[in-house]
Amino acid sequence: MKITGVETYVLESLLGDKAFGWSLWVTDRRQAALCVISTDEGIDGVGEALYSGCPAATATNLINDAYAPLIIGRNPFDNAVIWDLLYNRTRDQGMKGMPICALSAIDIALWDIKGKALGLPIHKLLGGSYRDKAHVYATGLYQPQNVSSITDALTEEALGYKQDGFSAMKLKVGYGIEEDIRLVKAVREAIGDDISLMVDANHAYNASEAIRLAREMEKYNIHWFEEPVPPEDIDGYLEVKQKSGIIITGGECEYTRYGFRELITRRAVDILQPDLCAAGGFTELARIVTLASAWNVPVMPHVWGTNVGLAASLQFFATLPHFPERRYPAEPFFEYDRSTHPLRDGISREKFAMKNGYLDIPQRPGLGITLDMSFVKKYAIS
Ligand SMILES: [Mg+2]
Repeated sequence: MKITGVETYVLESLLGDKAFGWSLWVTDRRQAALCVISTDEGIDGVGEALYSGCPAATATNLINDAYAPLIIGRNPFDNAVIWDLLYNRTRDQGMKGMPICALSAIDIALWDIKGKALGLPIHKLLGGSYRDKAHVYATGLYQPQNVSSITDALTEEALGYKQDGFSAMKLKVGYGIEEDIRLVKAVREAIGDDISLMVDANHAYNASEAIRLAREMEKYNIHWFEEPVPPEDIDGYLEVKQKSGIIITGGECEYTRYGFRELITRRAVDILQPDLCAAGGFTELARIVTLASAWNVPVMPHVWGTNVGLAASLQFFATLPHFPERRYPAEPFFEYDRSTHPLRDGISREKFAMKNGYLDIPQRPGLGITLDMSFVKKYAIS
């Protein structure tokens, strides 16, 4: 089998009055960077790259211009060889960030092709599944814009998740300690004590601020505190982890086994959150999990894309071992983004539906989804 073509698509949808804020800025549009790899056997694979506000740089410049010419004519089953080839081509100026996001999309598409060629879901090619459904938490509770009361809007949204059957949800924080505590208190009191509540600061704080927030949040039974400090501040993570009674998580802004090495070996987080569409695709995430398993650090991936990234992340999630294995192991949580994303569901013919707090892991070959190309073309801006 030979790769014969690589197509990229950059999609965009403006959010208008559905724009939402978080600790760093207001998101006023959702975008997606996709690649479709075709082969001489008529089998296509699709991948998605996480973007940083500039999906064209990832899709057009990196995937199309830099990587595609290097993989035409190669066998998709040589995914690890292709990974090394592409990584080494941009390594000197691209060890982290967009080049690895672009590489991730290509790697995901290659695994989709391999699965379709063999008639097996990707989790079977990666060693099998520990589970056939994923226990999800709702990612939402961003800062709504254009509402009379942010607190009322957030408590209403939180109660909506509870009514929908979610047993866990994540609230954005990072707006200043007093405001954060006010929101955490309001949401906790609205949903009651039976729902797991995570918070995510998207690295808005320094270590001393994060420690103060963590200590003040302890009485609200916070399940985990995500990205308290900037991703480069490993010593800050260690300080927060040592002085906080809350589980500390992070990793969505880290890339490859080389980047995760320090987070893992220095035990800087309690739970590692690599993103499949950013940190290196299936090939590299499997290595990161192996590294994490040697230090007994649990892995629960960051997921924030369209149904392509969601399907890929579910395949990967199925293969995550328990940390550690035991008679009654703790099941990992799967991130189910519920924030406004007009491109998320329409992009694939297959839809995902949560049942009793769980998402089924697709058992169809490859990623288990097919693109709706008329939808893709409708929202493509390049
Ligand atoms: Mg996060």
